[in-house]
Amino acid sequence: MKQKHSKKPKKQVDMARERINILFEQADLRFKENSKLSDRYVELARKIAMKYKVRMPRELKRKFCKHCHKYLKPGVNCRVRTTGKNVVYYCKNCKRYMRIGY
Ligand SMILES: [Zn+2]
Repeated sequence: MKQKHSKKPKKQVDMARERINILFEQADLRFKENSKLSDRYVELARKIAMKYKVRMPRELKRKFCKHCHKYLKPGVNCRVRTTGKNVVYYCKNCKRYMRIGY
């Protein structure tokens, strides 16, 4: 029996979180051979997050560019610098910066 869809059950939210984690894991694994696939995984993870209104965990937020949403791999398609309290990511895809506080 199905319940009426009033609000998102906690179970679904937990599942969404897990799927997001898995997608980022996969994105990392696939990056070397096919970075476009990684971008797709990021896209999917973002869609899931939006659908279930799940906030992206901090450690995942820095794994993709907030401007062009591409998967970021430090030393490959992004540069990471620390300035005092902030970490600055420079995305080589869209050539923009993103600042992340600790
Ligand atoms: Zn970018």
